[in-house]
Amino acid sequence: MTALTLIDPTDESVIGEVPMATVADTDAAVARAVRAQEGWSRLAPVDRARALRRFAAVVDAHVEELAQLEVRNSGHPVGNARWEAGHVRDVLDYFAAAPERLIGDQIPVAGGMDVTFLEPYGVVGVIVPWNFPMTIAAWGFAPALAAGNAVVVKPAEWTPLTALRIAELALEAGLPEGLLQVLPGAGDVVGERLVTHPDVRKIVFTGSTATGARVMAGAAQQVKPVTLELGGKSANVVFADADLELAAASAPGAVFDNSGQDCCARSRLLVQRSVLDRFLELLEPAVRAVTVGDPRDEATVMGPLVSRAHLERVQGFLDGADVAFRGDAPTGKGFWCPPTVLLPASADDRLAREEIFGPVVSVLPFDDEADAIAMANDSDYGLAASIWTRDLGRGIRVARGVQAGNLSVNSNSAVRYATPFGGVKRSGIGRELGPDAARAFTETKNVFFATE
Ligand code: NDP
Repeated sequence: MTALTLIDPTDESVIGEVPMATVADTDAAVARAVRAQEGWSRLAPVDRARALRRFAAVVDAHVEELAQLEVRNSGHPVGNARWEAGHVRDVLDYFAAAPERLIGDQIPVAGGMDVTFLEPYGVVGVIVPWNFPMTIAAWGFAPALAAGNAVVVKPAEWTPLTALRIAELALEAGLPEGLLQVLPGAGDVVGERLVTHPDVRKIVFTGSTATGARVMAGAAQQVKPVTLELGGKSANVVFADADLELAAASAPGAVFDNSGQDCCARSRLLVQRSVLDRFLELLEPAVRAVTVGDPRDEATVMGPLVSRAHLERVQGFLDGADVAFRGDAPTGKGFWCPPTVLLPASADDRLAREEIFGPVVSVLPFDDEADAIAMANDSDYGLAASIWTRDLGRGIRVARGVQAGNLSVNSNSAVRYATPFGGVKRSGIGRELGPDAARAFTETKNVFFATE
């Protein structure tokens, strides 16, 4: 069996090796999942709920351990990593309420009684990217388990450690062996096998649009449903009537959090032309104040990028770019990129169109409300957007006009476990989280009972 060497992105030291699963390992994992799912789906809903609450409690007891593991494997600042581990616990607690709330219908018909049952798919494959390794895994496995499915998670090659530990915690919490498995391996081996395996009945994929399209094409061969959370080039729209101090103070967080490795990164900063100069004056100190450095340090706001390959990809965008200003970052060992503000010549510039997935924001001026909506929508993507204005009517009009799945007015918030999350256009299909997410892991069965 081959193994993958994991590198700490902060100092490039070797963390250790993780064995890479093969197609045969994937088939064996799916067979175990099939067996585990049979008993799990027959449990009384209250017992499934109780098991998920126990799982949440065990995760809660290991928040610090999971956070430290993510710091080492992914370079996330420790405060953010603690939030992520706590979010996994919260997602499990939230979906623990679902087993007893997945309720079918009784439909009035002539000549009998018609009833619908919400049946689990069986085995669900969850393919996870490297940017938020544990939270994105939980968005898939928690609602899928709640609905009575078994789950095989394929973590990203660079960042498997927290998901692997969470699978151990599931066993500690008493979940049946085989119900939640994490299988590190290559995307075109384990990932593709999950997509094509006939016993994997649904795929949840998060990652790039190109790979997502490939996953969708593979799943189509078996008419297998997919949920896709893909890329973005989201807009942060600042109107002249906004609280400019607040909008400028908040803009760095909207794009530089997680070093910009965030599908919701608001990496196009659209500013009304009449206040552009003033806004840039306010933005510059806010960007320079972003503390970039050792993610173990509690004061650090931004850590390194995840890998050398990804750093080189981001730097490839920056070569020859028109940099307005940027913050500081360490030099030497580690995969460092400073927070960077660009002024592209036009909205057609590739810097303003392509997903860079690093700490880079492009500032572009707009003239009026119609122009702002048109520019925000001038993208293949449609994941998130933020709108800053003191005019409530405008906030509502623009939020309704912008083609995106997740919007916020006078806030950067994009993700809450209790509200639906997902994109439109090339940002994806389907929604995760929120009140309907567990239902998306069921198929409706209709049964007619004749009475005459
Ligand atoms: P990918 O989309 O290629 O990877 C995401 C996941 O899919 C990983 O687990 C990967 O495995 C797996 N995968 C790769 N190929 C296949 C396949 N053929 N079938 C099934 N699964 C597969 O992202 P990259 O890591 O290559 O990142 C490239 C760019 O994508 C980034 O720079 C960024 O722009 C964007 N991206 C967007 C994300 C988002 O949240 N929207 C998340 C990650 C990336 P493996 O790790 O083995 O390759």
